[in-house]
Amino acid sequence: MLKLYNTATKKLESFKPKNSEKVTIYTCGPTVYSAPHIGNFAAYIYWDLLLQILKLNDLTPYRVLNLTDVGHLTSDGDKGEDKLEKGARIEGKTVWEIADHYISLFKSDFRKLRLNEPQKWARATDYIEESKELVQKLIDNDFVYETSDGLYFDTSKFPAYPDFAHLNLENQKAGARVSFSSEKRNISDFAVWKFIAPEEKHIMRWNFLGRPGYPGWHLECSTIIHQELGEPIDIHTGGIDHIPIHHTNEIAQTFGAFQKKLAEFWLHCNFLTINGEKISKSLGNIITLKDLEEKGFSVFDFKLWLYQGHYRSERNFTWEDLASAKIRRKNWQNAYILSCQRGKTSQTPSLESKLLEYLNDDLNSPAAFAYIDSIKETLTSEDWELIDEIFKLNLTEIKNNSNWSFSDYESFARPLINKRNFARAQKNYQTADQLREELSKKGLTLLDTSEGTFWQLEP
Ligand SMILES: [Zn+2]
Repeated sequence: MLKLYNTATKKLESFKPKNSEKVTIYTCGPTVYSAPHIGNFAAYIYWDLLLQILKLNDLTPYRVLNLTDVGHLTSDGDKGEDKLEKGARIEGKTVWEIADHYISLFKSDFRKLRLNEPQKWARATDYIEESKELVQKLIDNDFVYETSDGLYFDTSKFPAYPDFAHLNLENQKAGARVSFSSEKRNISDFAVWKFIAPEEKHIMRWNFLGRPGYPGWHLECSTIIHQELGEPIDIHTGGIDHIPIHHTNEIAQTFGAFQKKLAEFWLHCNFLTINGEKISKSLGNIITLKDLEEKGFSVFDFKLWLYQGHYRSERNFTWEDLASAKIRRKNWQNAYILSCQRGKTSQTPSLESKLLEYLNDDLNSPAAFAYIDSIKETLTSEDWELIDEIFKLNLTEIKNNSNWSFSDYESFARPLINKRNFARAQKNYQTADQLREELSKKGLTLLDTSEGTFWQLEP
């Protein structure tokens, strides 16, 4: 039985979808104004494991992932510049070019990591009419009021507003006295629609209520979920930084417009820091997938490193830890390579159920990995294929610094190993050493055992 930690109830709960043929999932996606970094991908990699686990439980996930191309301002509140507009200004491109460019970069990195494609990629600007309709519903239901710069959701009209994030609104008010806009009725009120003043240069603009404007950032998620999935969805995922504002506001909007609960389960992954610091452009510590590859790592080393920890724990990335993860992945690849050469094919009968037992415990990949390590010498090539099917770490696809597959390596190495065995039998150690050297040039090392000689990838 799959158990997931539900942020909404702060409890580990048994997961049961409304319909096992279509488990509805929504993942808050990226704001597409700059190159995605490993901190962004951490979330998508964890949620990919969730999808794999649902499938192992004979459920069929149906997921929508949104791409924010409008309305996400540089401040978490409702002030500051639109991130897309700022990106366009800095790069000297149009906002549409910026969005297209970073969407395609995001998707290509997403595919490189072999993550499950969402059933639907939903771009915020493709849902403008539906967004307006949602705002109109909020107006009709009297949840919204107008200020000089936009339409705001009146959070005092939704008494459950602070519950999801356990917010203490009195404290917030005291702390924010200085920046609290006098036009807002409550400190937690948020813009669902922003007006564009005549002197403002916001390129992305749509007419609504007789004037130009654009949707507030939180609006798109409520809109897309309503259009594509229908409330309540089974699972909503995001980062813990989304809890107090973004997800709290999504819940409020959906309630205000439809009087419905947004999601049954809320899953949140923790932060990723780099050398103990928050990832930020201003600190200059952004690492992309390309950076990993340029330092000689595979993106799958990073994926393995992430799964070594739990999605709800804060993770601190260091290059040293990534190097250890790379070694662990190499060891697993070598265990697979050995199992292929030994040729035992019968599977370990309890492997899948045992792995599932760990993973069903709120995605406990670290425990699943420890279990794999404990039995790795006995696993057959089919077992490794199963492990690779679940975690998608490219263990069984060798291609070590070349495009060679296992069988390419095997047909190269086997004749040389046979020749070397012959030379050794003749006590011709010089030839034997030369043959070992030839194998080493292709990145292979030899393992002489009582069962015979096997090749492996050099560490
Ligand atoms: Zn969202």
